[in-house]
Amino acid sequence: MANGNAANALQGAEKTEQGLCFKGLIMEPIIDKCEGCDRAVAVDDTKYCPSYAKPARKWAHGVCNFATHVKAEKTKTGEIKINPLKASKRAARGR
Ligand code: SF4
Repeated sequence: MANGNAANALQGAEKTEQGLCFKGLIMEPIIDKCEGCDRAVAVDDTKYCPSYAKPARKWAHGVCNFATHVKAEKTKTGEIKINPLKASKRAARGR
């Protein structure tokens, strides 16, 4: 799927010895849980998230609330359930 304007989301990012630097932050690559998220942007062969410099940390607290591919739902028992979102559903909602 095309990323639309997302390719520009990391415009101005610079490669440094520490990693990809964007707006003064060192960007860490996305993690496996981010795969399928429309926000991820590829820079060369690595994907980064313009929304979070550290995607792994974002997911450490549960489901990323900016994810476009999954949605967290609390079950009646308070457990967090992750529901994959279908691309067609996303399109229907205009995302
Ligand atoms: S928005 Fe969340 S799920 Fe999507 S790439 Fe960024 S950290 Fe990963």
